[in-house]
Order: sequence, then structure tokens, then C-alpha cells
Amino acid sequence: MWTPSDIAAFGRPAEKIVPLCYPHSYMSGTVLDGKKVSREIRDELRPRIDALRSNKRAPALAVVLVGDNPASQIYVRNKIKACQELGIRSIELRPAQDITTEQLLEQISPLNRDSDVDGILIQMPLPKQIDVNTLNLHLDPMRDVDGFSAYSLGRLVRNEPAPRACTPAGIMELLKRYQISIAGRRAVVVGRSDIVGKPIALMLLHENATVTICHSKTRDLAGECRRADILIAAMGRPAAITADYIKPGAVVVDVGVNRLTNEAEVVRLFPHDTGRLAGYAKNGSTLVGDVEPMAMQEISSAYTPVPGGVGPLTIAMLMANTVKLAEMRLLGKSAG
Ligand code: NDP
Repeated sequence: MWTPSDIAAFGRPAEKIVPLCYPHSYMSGTVLDGKKVSREIRDELRPRIDALRSNKRAPALAVVLVGDNPASQIYVRNKIKACQELGIRSIELRPAQDITTEQLLEQISPLNRDSDVDGILIQMPLPKQIDVNTLNLHLDPMRDVDGFSAYSLGRLVRNEPAPRACTPAGIMELLKRYQISIAGRRAVVVGRSDIVGKPIALMLLHENATVTICHSKTRDLAGECRRADILIAAMGRPAAITADYIKPGAVVVDVGVNRLTNEAEVVRLFPHDTGRLAGYAKNGSTLVGDVEPMAMQEISSAYTPVPGGVGPLTIAMLMANTVKLAEMRLLGKSAG
């Protein structure tokens, strides 16, 4: 095994490189470039934001960040930065970690009634004492920019217009823009959370895919995944989906974001990726999805890289939802 200094110098002896070659090697799959699509979505929003600004006012997003979770702070900072870049007004609320559900509701209620607020985002995860269901029931559905409320989810089940959860909506946008056909194809979603797994399964179903949802109690997960023409991995388990799980030529969407700090694992997963290895040597960690990267690249027909795949779309869709809600409120546009 080579050392971090080997990695930093990119100087790995050839015999230490593990050759990766899968039995059903397809070819190098097309990269579904989330950064590029995210830029396109943002560019398309600019004239709509300009129209709102010149006719009425700038769209406005309220962001509620409870406590001081470091990851949440970074997510919120990025969301506010995206607002600033596009000319969307952001309002930040920073309640303390030990706030009660009732106190939080008192802070959110005025936002629900504020005619100058178009979207309200409550950054997850919330501290354990907060009752998320109560919170979601109180959130004005017309400001539910994340699409997490029972109302928005019910509308999704019925395939009726409402804000859609940003990550799954971003995945659908990516598939659409890369002209990946969905109707009649077999889609397998690994993960059944309310924010990713269930909504993406419903969205694919509404586009006439034949959908299977897998979870931690699924028997023969590899066998289920191998049947997928479109495989969506949203489980939060680093590189758990290996070559045996992927049908040659499948489209693979890797939603997982996992921070790897184990050097041997980084070397095993990215044996030829000098940039990645140098990054690890410098920072002591690297991001990996739920799918083994080399397997995904070699066996799929198209795949989302981590980072740079699904992640950038989540914020772009948050901006899109904010603009849509502002247009509905200020210009009387329909939700469709
Ligand atoms: P959750 O932890 O809420 O859900 C994980 C799901 O995966 C659960 O349904 C769980 O099953 C299932 N699961 C876990 N382990 C296994 C296993 N070994 N086999 C089969 N199924 C399993 O996660 P989220 O949905 O919130 O997020 C999933 C991943 O996506 C995370 O890595 C997260 O960081 C990432 N993410 C990325 C976003 C982005 O913008 N790129 C946005 C949101 C999430 P069960 O229900 O039985 O417990």
C-alpha cells in the first residue's frame, strides 16, 4: 500500500495500482454533468427574476437554520450564495440549538403571513426535540419551497402541481435534458426517505417507468438492482453498490454523498484518479457516492459523478422553486 506522500507526488509504482476491469464492461459511460445542467437552469431563471424585479419585487427566500450543525451551515451558506448570484432576496433565521417546537413555530408563523416572502426553507436535520411533522403541518404550502409538507407530498402522489422536493426534481431535470427515455423502462430506487427515495420513485412512476423501491430489508438487493435500466442509489452507504449490482448499459444516478477518510478505501476506489488522490492527501478526506465509481463508469451507459452530479442540481431546483412560487404570488401564474 502506498503512503499519502506517494499520493501527493502522484508517484505510484505501477505494481501497486490495482487493475479494475469488470466482466461485463460496457464502455465508459456518458457523464451526466450536474454542474452544466445546474448552470443552464440558473441561466434560464435570470430573465424571469429580472421580470419579477422590474414589475414587482425580487423573489424572496427565507432560510431557517436551527443550531450550529457544521454541514448544515455549509449547505445554507451555499444556498444563500446562490440567491445572491441570481438576485433573489434571502432572509436568514438562526434559532438556537435548544429551541422547542412551539418556539420555532412562533418564529415561522410571521414568515407564513409575510407577503414579501415567497419560499420558506427549514434546513434539515433538525435537533431531536423538534417535531418535524408538526412543523411541516404549519408550513404554508404556498411557501413550501422544499416540497416536504404533507400537502406537497400528497399533490405529488396525485401527480398534481406543487413544489417538488429539490433533489428528486433535479434528477428528473437531468434525465430530461440528457434525453434519457423513462417510459416503459425498469427503474430501481435504493432508499425510501421522504426527501429522496419516495419522491423520485413517484416522479419516475408518473413518467411511466416500472418502479421498484428497495431499502435495508430488501432481500437480494444486488439481484433487484441488476434488473434496473435506471438505477437510483440514495442510501447513504459509501460505494455499497458494486459491479455486481449494475446491469450493463444501465443509467446510474448516484445521489449518495459520503465523506471517506480511510486511506486504503480511497486508494481502492480511486486507483487511477491522481487528482482525487492528491485532494485526499491534502485534505484527509474525499467524497464518494453510494456507487463504486469505477464500476459505475465502466458498466453504465450514463452516470452521475460524485461530486458534480446530483448535488449542484439540488440548489438549482431550490432557486427554480423559489422563482416559481414568486411568479404565482406576484404575477398570478398557475402552479403547472
Ligand atoms: P436516509 O438515511 O433518510 O435514507 C436512506 C435510505 O437508504 C433508507 O430508506 C434505508 O432503508 C436505505 N438503506 C440504508 N442502508 C441500506 C442498505 N444497506 N441496503 C438497502 N437500503 C439501505 O437518507 P437520505 O434519503 O436523506 O439520503 C440518502 C443519501 O443521499 C445520503 O448519502 C445523502 O447525503 C444523500 N443526499 C444527497 C443530496 C444531494 O443534493 N446530492 C440531497 C439529499 C441527500 P430503511 O428505510 O430500511 O432504513
